[in-house]
Amino acid sequence: MMQTTAESNDRWTFDTWFTGFGNTDYTQFKETLVHDIANLKTQVSALQNNPEAIIKAIQAFETLCDRLEHLSNYILCLQAENVSNEPVKKDKAWIATLQAEATKLKTSLQAKLAALSDTVFETVVNNELLEGAKHEVKRMREEGQHLMNTEMEALAADLGINGLHAWGRLYDTLAGQMEFQMTFPDGHREIVPMSRRRALMAGPDRALRQAAFHDGQKPWQDHAETLAACLNGIAGTRLSLYRHRNISNFLDLPLFDSALSRASLEAMLDAIHKNLELPRRALRAAARLQKTPALHYFDLEAPQIVAAEEKPLSWGNACEIVEQSFRSAYPKFGQYFCDMLNNRWIEAEPRADKLPGAFCTGSRFKLEERAFLSFHGTLHDVVTTAHEVGHAWHARVLRPKRSMATHCPMTLAETASNFGEMILLNSLLDDPDISPEKKATLIDQQMLRAHGYLINIPMRFHFEKAFYTERACGELSVSRFCELMEQSQRELYGDTLLSDGTDPFFWASKMHFFITDVSFYNFPYVFGYLLSQALYARFNEEGAAFLPRYEAFLANTGSNTCEEVARNTLGVDLTNPDFWAEALRTIEPALKEYEALGSK
Ligand SMILES: [Zn+2]
Repeated sequence: MMQTTAESNDRWTFDTWFTGFGNTDYTQFKETLVHDIANLKTQVSALQNNPEAIIKAIQAFETLCDRLEHLSNYILCLQAENVSNEPVKKDKAWIATLQAEATKLKTSLQAKLAALSDTVFETVVNNELLEGAKHEVKRMREEGQHLMNTEMEALAADLGINGLHAWGRLYDTLAGQMEFQMTFPDGHREIVPMSRRRALMAGPDRALRQAAFHDGQKPWQDHAETLAACLNGIAGTRLSLYRHRNISNFLDLPLFDSALSRASLEAMLDAIHKNLELPRRALRAAARLQKTPALHYFDLEAPQIVAAEEKPLSWGNACEIVEQSFRSAYPKFGQYFCDMLNNRWIEAEPRADKLPGAFCTGSRFKLEERAFLSFHGTLHDVVTTAHEVGHAWHARVLRPKRSMATHCPMTLAETASNFGEMILLNSLLDDPDISPEKKATLIDQQMLRAHGYLINIPMRFHFEKAFYTERACGELSVSRFCELMEQSQRELYGDTLLSDGTDPFFWASKMHFFITDVSFYNFPYVFGYLLSQALYARFNEEGAAFLPRYEAFLANTGSNTCEEVARNTLGVDLTNPDFWAEALRTIEPALKEYEALGSK
């Protein structure tokens, strides 16, 4: 087979998108887009219950969304590669207002769809011009049926900027400026920015973790009243909107966004709660490895096994590792990774002015993908690369579909990225030349993932559910937030945490609770983790013959619910707790090896 080995470019390019930021093609693209959104908005508001006109409007909306996404992702990427680029920052703020206009346009289209009789709607949605878009159009209508009237929705969208999202911005500003005085184990003192705390707590030195935890707790305690006001404000706004939109339960919207039924979520959580012993065993083994009777909260993200001399990897090494792992297990995936590198679609160079974190994005307008990360030479960064390329491959498989058949929920998106991680980790573990030390490090990483997904995230869900239930009756005090948080941690972690090992202020320090765009941000990651475990187990059994089915699975993620995709392409029932329990038990072999390491 002809193989194009990748050049390890670590900078991306957008030459095929625009000739450059601020150039004529860029400004013209902006201008026509603004004009076309306004035009369609007027057209839609004048629409009568005429099926042909509604179909035309849906098609026009679909292509407008591609152009808006193309522009906003371009700006997002330019901002991510250099956060201090002022002109880009200005356009970032500007595009938020254009996105709000597009939201209003969507809302008014949804109101038209909701007003159609069932019979007329059926003729609309079954029209050949909307082929492949049925699932998405049905969802638009369903959401439309829960909207307030157009004026109130427009007011809610405008107020959201200064209300709901303002609480989130307050949190970001406050947390972004936080620093604390830390006394290091060697006695020296230093002012440490809060952004470094998590990295310190994910390090192998326990004394350092302990110091970072205790000293870093102070700003969260000092600002607890403000942070409680943010959280009360965010949840309170949501609950009011739900009431006005006739949404009876606070989980309805997160489930709708996830394209998941309540029964499936409950089946998944039920299986997790019944099998808590599995991830708890991993935590007990970790405690034995660090020679403590149980773990403290600050031990949860720490590696217990560190390879003796861990030389930082070069980006070139990392690309080789990813390419070889992907190619040996899934050649098309490996080739695609090379194509991404050769096309300069991956941004990995570590620079001070870059946005922290990693993401995958792209353009349906150009049918191209992009991945963003900062490569600092760790194995964790290699895994992040595999994760983001897993997302990009998903978008690549969806390319031939119409845009309205590509909007997949986070639940399924995170399945594809986790599958990418699993291919990498498993092919590293299967390497016959692997040293026992390296193997132990990888198993330790796997177990960190396992209890993170199977205990920590379900704990966050437990807390949020209790919080939203109580919030419906009034605001919660700081001490009540701390109480609920401690109860949730005790409930999920059981005896694997030391008696003084909880973190009562986790509700304040965890940014995810303050994300205003998505409610119950966390559970889709558990879903993605477990479903990808199940997919990988199938792949292991069936070998290469499974891969076309995996691609059929990916290709269907934007045109079906989670239950339908799973049933149609894999023949499994997500509402059955046994399915999830089986997925959970796939961690058992690695767990046993980990326990053996812990008892040495
Ligand atoms: Zn992801």
